[in-house]
Amino acid sequence: MDASLLQQVPHRRFNPLTRDWVLVSPHRTKRPWLGKVEKPATTDLPAYDPTCYLCPGNERADGARNPKYNSTFAFDNDFAALLPGTPAFEGDEGGLLVARSEQGICRVMCFSPRHDLTIPRMSLAEIGEVISLWTAEFRRLGELDWVRHVQIFENRGALMGASNPHPHCQIWANASMPDMPVKELRSFRDYREAKKSCLLCDYLRLELQRGERVICENDGFAVVIPFWAVWPFETLLMSKRHFASMEQFAAGESGLLADILRRITIRYDNLFETSFPYSMGFHQRPTDGQAYPEWHFHAHFLPPLLRSATVQKFMVGYEMLGNPQRDITPESAAKRLREVAEIHYLDRV
Ligand SMILES: [Zn+2]
Ligand SMILES: [Zn+2]
Ligand SMILES: [Zn+2]
Repeated sequence: MDASLLQQVPHRRFNPLTRDWVLVSPHRTKRPWLGKVEKPATTDLPAYDPTCYLCPGNERADGARNPKYNSTFAFDNDFAALLPGTPAFEGDEGGLLVARSEQGICRVMCFSPRHDLTIPRMSLAEIGEVISLWTAEFRRLGELDWVRHVQIFENRGALMGASNPHPHCQIWANASMPDMPVKELRSFRDYREAKKSCLLCDYLRLELQRGERVICENDGFAVVIPFWAVWPFETLLMSKRHFASMEQFAAGESGLLADILRRITIRYDNLFETSFPYSMGFHQRPTDGQAYPEWHFHAHFLPPLLRSATVQKFMVGYEMLGNPQRDITPESAAKRLREVAEIHYLDRV
């Protein structure tokens, strides 16, 4: 493949995980640079907010009161999108009007008692606490006999629709597999059958050899801007060892995950010197009790920002009706993310 053509000529790139395509238009970045890098007004959050329903000791919407927790804290969402014990029903009218009941559990998990403490500003030990609760929740929910999939995800920032700035994530456990993991499972399986190898093990090896899309790595994990990234600064976090979910961590891997999460989120914040908004989530093996030797542990970071803290990429028009499209190539986005420091801009002396 001619690397220089990929920086000049409009082309499509294939996502082997989902089998979707993205249109890349590198020539458009030769347009005059319209967006100047603006810094938004810094929003200083207090360490404790008496009106926040996630802070320790405060009352929640349904009247329950949070304990005075001093590390992490998880509870069932008071406004859950899914409910356990939903009565089963199924309807199908000629394959055109098709519906099925869906059972689930929606959890909310606070990363820290501190209202203002995001992952990039937490210590490794504090992120370690978050990872051990993620692991415990994944195991406990996954062991329920009707739960087939557990999705851990974080919406960070008002741009992503996060309703409360208190650092937290959500965990949804479903009776059905959601669409994206279903697509990925099919790709992992087909690849393993065809090549007797793992799609992401092979992909990671290729990226580490080339280096041009690698952002950071340690002994356990690496973060790259995938070749097929849709969002300008989208990244893919992959384990270096082949395993399928958090409760299969080997010794030291939880600490290495804390390290890589801290480093990539510091880089994100430093890019535009802002608290960088994103949706992120882990993709782990299905939890229906079967073995999934083909599944490779990974996480996606999907940030909406384009070229400054205030300029957002919109998925509209052709992207809603045809394919996603991007101007800045994954390679030049990777270069920019590699150029920023791993010391948080607010912690610089
Ligand atoms: Zn709070
Ligand atoms: Zn693998
Ligand atoms: Zn995935």
